[in-house]
Order: sequence, then C-alpha cells, then structure tokens
Amino acid sequence: MSKLIDDILSGDPTRVWSSACAIIKLRDAGELDALVSVLDEITSSTKNLKLGGMLIPNDKHLQFALRKLRYRRDGAGCLCRLYPEYLMFDPNEEQAAGNVSIDKITYVDGHWIDFYRCSCTTCGSAFEVQEREYHYTWWGWRLVS
Ligand SMILES: [Zn+2]
Repeated sequence: MSKLIDDILSGDPTRVWSSACAIIKLRDAGELDALVSVLDEITSSTKNLKLGGMLIPNDKHLQFALRKLRYRRDGAGCLCRLYPEYLMFDPNEEQAAGNVSIDKITYVDGHWIDFYRCSCTTCGSAFEVQEREYHYTWWGWRLVS
C-alpha cells in the first residue's frame, strides 16, 4: 500500500490532512488510479473525521481531494478543470511542477500582482488567475478559453 493510501485511511486527522493535501497536488497517474481503486473505502473512513483547522477548515482540503479522485474515476477530463474549485493552487507552484505555464503577469501600481495568465501544458486551456490576500494568499482561477 502506498504511503498516501496508508495515511488517508489511517483515521488519524493529521495524517489524513497531509495525505489530502498531497493528493490535491498529485499528478502521477499510477498513484491516482491506486487511490481511485480504494475511493469508497476512503470516503467511508473519512466521513465523520474531525479535522480541525485554523483559517481554512482542513475538511475543505479533504473534500477537494475526494472531489479530485471522483473526477479522475469518472474520467471527466483534464485535471486543470479543477483549478477554479480550490483556492490554494499557486500558479508558480503549478508552473514549477510543469502543469501550467505562466504567460503573463499583470500588476497593480507596478507592484502587487493583480492576475496571471496561464495555460495548461496538457490541454492548452487558458486561465486568468487572480492573486488575493486576506489572512492568507489565495488564487481564483477562471477558465478563459
Ligand atoms: Zn488542461
């Protein structure tokens, strides 16, 4: 069993949370499929888990990880389509991972980042990504083409 599967099925809030965060960033097809194969088990074992969390409830990460695995199971398309559903996809990290390329950055007053223009390296979809800060930095992805 992989560490991610082991952790998300552990029933231990800290391990479940860290596994969920890793699944959200995960692109390895083999590992994703292995997780999808135990999706029902993951769903039931995490159902009533109290995950806590300060600014963002940790359950949000878990719910998005589950959403991603269901999307994968259903063969619903390119993973970039999930960017608009989650506020913690940093375009710089996504670019470093090879998932998108940042084509343009627009600044406010030549200083603060207003938004990025990115394109998916897999399917070519283009996104406009707002960068905002309110207690923490978050990104709002919007599909533009
Ligand atoms: Zn894509």
